[in-house]
Amino acid sequence: MIQIKNSEQIAVMKEAGRITAEALLVAGENIRDGISTKQLDTLIREHIEKSGAKPSFLGYGGFPGSACISINDEVIHGIPSAKRYLKEGDIVKVDVGAYYRGFHGDSARTFAVGKVDEAASRLIEVTEQSFWEAIKQMEQGKRIGDIGAAVDSHVKQFGFSTVKRYVGHGIGHALHEQPDVPNFGTPGRGVRICTGMVLAIEPMINMGSDDVKTLPDGWTVKTADGSLSAHYENTVALTPNGVLVLTKA
Ligand code: MG
Ligand code: MG
Repeated sequence: MIQIKNSEQIAVMKEAGRITAEALLVAGENIRDGISTKQLDTLIREHIEKSGAKPSFLGYGGFPGSACISINDEVIHGIPSAKRYLKEGDIVKVDVGAYYRGFHGDSARTFAVGKVDEAASRLIEVTEQSFWEAIKQMEQGKRIGDIGAAVDSHVKQFGFSTVKRYVGHGIGHALHEQPDVPNFGTPGRGVRICTGMVLAIEPMINMGSDDVKTLPDGWTVKTADGSLSAHYENTVALTPNGVLVLTKA
């Protein structure tokens, strides 16, 4: 069932979203050659806890980190590790959730570590753009398929592909609620979008094929062909005044 939120609930979700966004800012400020993904995870957890919230991902399905940190050809769900260090030229995806007064925020960014090559920075840029294309579709009466189609058609122009196996989602009291929000779809098809819907819209974009595989650690998802992948996510609400990005610092 889709949980529609009222304006008071959306106001609390805005706070959860702000804490989530700030945690990503902290991550961004600390990303550099030589930092371990565990160190980043610790900074993120400390920020969330200091803000009176809880990291949504810590312990979720047994996940051991507060953030998912995925490097280069890793798509999502990378486990923070004291033995993995970022290096110049990497692209790193940081995905964070904060649980505050009964509601979750969920947001992800892809960061460049120092100077990255032109193709990698284009992938990061196009992935972000596809999110903004997608939320133009977030209007009363449009459908979830309009969102997915907007992402897919935008990235295809650049020869990139959208991951099909993992999708965006409704969000609220639970981190993952109905409906699913795929990054592909048919315009005019799927669940009807309405005021009070809160969605985590999250393009996951591969430079090569859309095929992915899970590593033996049971979490980390990588591109099957070893190509780079980028991720961009915000929690957004459709309010009577239009679409509102909740995961803003
Ligand atoms: Mg996320
Ligand atoms: Mg999400």
